Amino acid sequence: MRQRIDVEEAAALVLATMPRWEPVRVPLAAALGAVLREPLVAERDQPPFDRVTMDGIAFAGAAFATGQRRFRVAGTQGAGSAPLALASAADCIEVMTGCVLPTGTDTVVPVERIRREGDTAVIEDGYQAVPRQFVHPLGSDHRQGAVLLDPGTRIGPAEMAILTIGGSAEVAVTRRPRIAVISTGDELIDAGQPIASYQIRSSNDRALEAALRRRGYADVSRCTLRDDPAQLCAEIGRLHRDSDLVILSGGVSMGQFDHVPATLTQLGVEPVFHKVLQRPGLPLWFGRSAGGKVVFALPGNPISSLVCLVRYVLPGIDAALGAAARPMPRVRLAQAVEFRTDLTAFIPVTLAWSEAGEASARPKLTNTSGDFVALGGTDGFVELPRGQHLFPAGFPARFYAW
Ligand code: AMP
Ligand code: MG
Repeated sequence: MRQRIDVEEAAALVLATMPRWEPVRVPLAAALGAVLREPLVAERDQPPFDRVTMDGIAFAGAAFATGQRRFRVAGTQGAGSAPLALASAADCIEVMTGCVLPTGTDTVVPVERIRREGDTAVIEDGYQAVPRQFVHPLGSDHRQGAVLLDPGTRIGPAEMAILTIGGSAEVAVTRRPRIAVISTGDELIDAGQPIASYQIRSSNDRALEAALRRRGYADVSRCTLRDDPAQLCAEIGRLHRDSDLVILSGGVSMGQFDHVPATLTQLGVEPVFHKVLQRPGLPLWFGRSAGGKVVFALPGNPISSLVCLVRYVLPGIDAALGAAARPMPRVRLAQAVEFRTDLTAFIPVTLAWSEAGEASARPKLTNTSGDFVALGGTDGFVELPRGQHLFPAGFPARFYAW
């Protein structure tokens, strides 16, 4: 087991240790937010035909070139109907946006440039029709067989639309992970329950659950356990067995009731590291069992638990899902921050964007790592590396969203 390691080392160990959850085929509607696990291949050329991009008329450009400006309307071609054919160069066909360019025509004139005289369309004086101008050519977006999405892509609204272009009603994505959030502590009482003066509302598990749910992880359970080794062993054991990922908070420090590391070891979850040189969140514990499942045991201090979830657990989940890694953006500090301790600092911030489009982060200084209330209105936190003590205004820091 590694102890008292740097943030980068801890983050790298998490990524290297995470299992890879297997793919399943799901209906498209169930794929939103999931990670694609196969290349998405175009079913057909796109557009699959020469597509008209304006309402108007279509005719043979050769007739226009010889000076013809009046065309008899021989038919109407709407989107979704099989192509009509032009019978005579004296004729035109009315065309609607999205329809097939009728066979025998190559030139489209928009409806705004023509007037109707009975069944004849007359083109505006001086209008210069250009062959194929309002035609979106077959295959010009992509060809059949082209890879439209790579494995590892997270499926959002645009990707949902692209999936339909694959033509299949099902797609391979990483199966939805079952995640158990467990907070531990004899003092913890959920909202809605009577509470004594010496007890604490259990807020960590709600914040952790919310951070997971907002990222689309719907299969999240939440519970609170006492600092009782037997109960911890039974319940953590059960949830470790029945879930893909267990996230604990509390009980990982040096106190007499901090039973979590020993309980996990007893359950066969071997520590990979314990304690990271960071504030908040120093007592972070991370382990793996022989079957490959991992457990994060986050410190109980409320801000610590949420910071550790965002900094370590969420990237770990991405790795297990097979999501393509994306570096966190950097934002500039809106004011100088002094941090004298030889630890990496995570500072809650509120973001603002300048007219020039630059994001700046205004630190919200918290008294201890114990107060969620201080986080109200913040967007996330910045990471200030260990070894530097003064971070001037404008310092470009990595930003993590809650
Ligand atoms: P621990 O890591 O168990 O020593 O807890 C550190 C501090 O965080 C203590 O003051 C706990 O009361 C507090 N704490 C632990 N778990 C929670 C929780 N679920 N909600 C709110 N505060 C908590
Ligand atoms: Mg505790």
